[in-house]
Amino acid sequence: MNRSEWFTEQHSGAGSAFSLKIKQKLHEEQSEFQHLEIYETETFGNLMVIDGCTMVSTRDNFFYHEMMSHPALFTHPDPKRVWIIGGGDCGTLREVLKHQSVEQAVQIDIDERVTRLAEIYFPELCESNNDPRADLKFIDGIKWVKDAEPNSVDIIIVDSTDPVGPALGLFSKEFYHDCFNCLSENGMVVQQSESALYHLKLIGEMRDAMSATGFKHLQTLFFPQCLYPSGWWSATIASKGDLGKFRELDSANKQFDTTYYNADIHKAALAQPEFVKKAFNLK
Ligand code: SAM
Repeated sequence: MNRSEWFTEQHSGAGSAFSLKIKQKLHEEQSEFQHLEIYETETFGNLMVIDGCTMVSTRDNFFYHEMMSHPALFTHPDPKRVWIIGGGDCGTLREVLKHQSVEQAVQIDIDERVTRLAEIYFPELCESNNDPRADLKFIDGIKWVKDAEPNSVDIIIVDSTDPVGPALGLFSKEFYHDCFNCLSENGMVVQQSESALYHLKLIGEMRDAMSATGFKHLQTLFFPQCLYPSGWWSATIASKGDLGKFRELDSANKQFDTTYYNADIHKAALAQPEFVKKAFNLK
């Protein structure tokens, strides 16, 4: 097989790689912030790659976008104001806007080009961009949160690239501190937290930093995502108030379609593997 027919992301440090057979490269550019590529693949639809890392494919993005949004939105008692930091492909925004309780969803991505390319190559992810509750901003999410007033948001979803380049500061104590200050009383942050198999230390550091800035309760949820390193991804919720149980009845009776998420999946995603319990001293 000619290797040029494949896109391969090598996972540095893990000694592994993930490849997709490609039909053609549809687009490539260097934006002000990062290197952007779009491929048409043979079996995963279109693929967006940022700085050499796979971000989104048509076929499997639903795992990630649904698990970045619905668990937090069905855990908060009454989510009305949601911010998405990053998330420029608009898939998380689409999921958030499925919740009728949400009055305003602001997506803050540093790179407008990601959204403009998503509109062309992933139009289904952008189908809610014209919802009157949606507000798309193109600025640095770190600055946005730093400048925000207290009590201005109920849930902050950090749907960012890996902790390198412009996203590095989104994994810092200062950022969590700024999130804590602008969240409402029962407010929560949910952040993509990489792979427990490959990045356990990073998840531990994130959890420690979130606790140190005052978040009372943490939950790390697990879900499949074959496109990302190890194929097994996580999201971590940090809450100012009690996390307790999620609104299971509301989740079971949700008034919208999903492809992966449901109340049983939510429960299952909260189960903690033994090595994770040991690493984070969980009961
Ligand atoms: N699902 C992907 C993953 O985990 O690999 C992430 C989605 S991708 C659309 C993440 C977005 O984060 C990119 O569009 C990038 O521009 C944005 N981003 C990175 N650093 C940022 C920052 N400091 N402020 C706002 N957006 C940022």
